Amino acid sequence: MKLDFATLPKATLARFAKLGLQRPFDLVLHLPLRYEDETHLFTIADAPLGSPVLVEGEVVHAEVTFRPRRQLVARIEDGSGELFVRLINFYPNQQQQLALGRRVRLLGEIRRGYFGDEMVHPKVRNVGDNSALAESLTPVYSTVSGLNQPALRKLIGQALQQCDLSDTLPAPLLRDLALMPFGAAVQLLHHPTPDIAQQQLSERIHPAWLRLKFDELLAQQLSMRLAYRRRREQTAPVLRVAGEMAGRLTDSLPFGLTGAQQRVLAEIRHDMASPHPMQRLLQGDVGAGKTIVAALAALDAIEAGYQAALMAPTEILAEQHYKKLSTWLAPLGIEVAWLAGSLRPKAKLAAIAQVESGAARLAVGTHALFQESVAFAQLGLAIVDEQHRFGVHQRLALRGKGGSPHQLMMSATPIPRTLAMSFYADLDVSVIDELPPGRSPIKTRLVSEARRDEMVEFVRKVASEGHQAYWVCPLIEESETLQLQTAIDTHAALSEALPEFQVGLVHGRLKPAEKAEIMAAFSRNDLQVLVATTVIEVGVDVANASLMVIEHAERMGLAQLHQLRGRVGRGALESSCVLLYNGPLGEDAKQRLKVIYESTDGFVIAREDLRIRGPGEFLGSRQSGVPMLRFADLERDTALLEQAREVAVQLLEHSPHVAEAHMARWLAGREELLKA
Ligand code: ADP
Ligand code: MG
Repeated sequence: MKLDFATLPKATLARFAKLGLQRPFDLVLHLPLRYEDETHLFTIADAPLGSPVLVEGEVVHAEVTFRPRRQLVARIEDGSGELFVRLINFYPNQQQQLALGRRVRLLGEIRRGYFGDEMVHPKVRNVGDNSALAESLTPVYSTVSGLNQPALRKLIGQALQQCDLSDTLPAPLLRDLALMPFGAAVQLLHHPTPDIAQQQLSERIHPAWLRLKFDELLAQQLSMRLAYRRRREQTAPVLRVAGEMAGRLTDSLPFGLTGAQQRVLAEIRHDMASPHPMQRLLQGDVGAGKTIVAALAALDAIEAGYQAALMAPTEILAEQHYKKLSTWLAPLGIEVAWLAGSLRPKAKLAAIAQVESGAARLAVGTHALFQESVAFAQLGLAIVDEQHRFGVHQRLALRGKGGSPHQLMMSATPIPRTLAMSFYADLDVSVIDELPPGRSPIKTRLVSEARRDEMVEFVRKVASEGHQAYWVCPLIEESETLQLQTAIDTHAALSEALPEFQVGLVHGRLKPAEKAEIMAAFSRNDLQVLVATTVIEVGVDVANASLMVIEHAERMGLAQLHQLRGRVGRGALESSCVLLYNGPLGEDAKQRLKVIYESTDGFVIAREDLRIRGPGEFLGSRQSGVPMLRFADLERDTALLEQAREVAVQLLEHSPHVAEAHMARWLAGREELLKA
């Protein structure tokens, strides 16, 4: 029977959609979660306890009892021994299956019960004329309600028969890579013969699994490379300049650029001088000094006669950038526009006009910068700070402005190597791997909540020495109101405990202008202590702040803790970060706190974060806009990833039609995602 999605009932299609099945081939790739072994029959006497077994016998007794509750109890004999079967919820047809005298085959675990050995809720099948055992393991698939295993198995069986399972890769290549043929691999995974070690299947290390993982990784590598190539085919303004403006800014700075800053700036300049849009990710740990690099790149664009734009994820951060860049650029006579959602309509219109006329050479703001009503006169460079905080759509909107400007994305969340090789393979990456000199390392302390009072004294000490402290209130995911209340309470308590100092409060419910005012007061040291919800997480830069107290640190993710801690230690001051925790700690929380305590290296932390959370969580699938890997595991399959990467290069170079066929098989229906 031919499987045709067009003729399937609507309800089935809806269930398929939930499972991500859109075409027959998706069924081929819907691989079993596990298997049941119905290839071997045990005698009741020999069947081991506690693992699934198949036994067969005759029903010699069956009754519905009501004590201790309504249940169907049957007794089965096979000549070697007897076994009880108990069904606590049952249907009339099951009662018939287990009627006196019937021969049944039972799949389940045998346990010692009150009456004797028993199976509770086994899979029951009557043995009729056809008593042949299964020849392969029975696959169990992930499914949704309304689509049972037998139905799904049948549909997948049909798909396996009718889909083209021929290989997309040439035989010599498979031989070189020691990979098994695709068709054989999927057939095996759906219907493995009993001689195959189940462990190799469940751990996904069987050659059949390796083949599927390789194919998946290869498809991903190919699509990323093609995206990269497509970009290389677009044209962008050539921003090749003498760097005179940038030179004037660096001359005016109280510090010199670090070697790493100079190197990444050279990489950016090289890209911007080419006629193709740059798409470069600038990575640098918190405090590495990305802002000045961005400013210097923007000056090159401006010197070349174009505009630059800098977008930040929050108003606090955007405003801070605006102030800093205005200070830096004003002496050069460059007009900077400020655009944020909170601007009054009149001010907003004025800013938009500044950008449209080209009077403003640099525009700084939140995503308001890239709303439809804003049209740049000649946008040459778009910079996105903390890019991982933006969704893919916002990044796309930005790309749509004014042809194809060069793009610089900045992030303090380092991408572990395997992720960089896979999900970010279409970007060029520059890394600032050196902090500016004279920073003293941050001391991290793990302190139990019971010692909170001591920490208040610590804050007092820091403030008495003329420095400042952040006190971060816990994230309460279930309730924003509760989170706010905690912050208000903490603020009141700290104000009372530290009457000789000014304690400020900043939280997400404040208006942007109010937030900005409080941040400004903290910058001026009018406030010595700042109680905050996690709004201060990104990019805030107050060099005199030397203490960060984080409450309920056990609730926060590693990246967040690292970012928060990065708010201190920005100058030469000896700085501390206190992680207050409430026990008892869960296993993950324990691991996270250990990592953050032992390391201040963003890369180490990101790698551990990836290990603890896995890539889906790490990237946030919606956010990344790239299809997640279903089969391959970036931690465990690094070797396959390396291979796939090499093969992708070879194929695109020498056998583009093979590359195309491979992508058609693996990525059909997902093109939209890939364009991101
Ligand atoms: P991030 O990379 O986290 O965005 P910033 O750009 O905010 O870091 O820089 C952190 C601080 O370091 C700022 O106060 C900045 O002026 C300062 N800074 C940047 N580069 C240097 C340098 N080469 N030497 C000394 N200080 C620097
Ligand atoms: Mg920054």
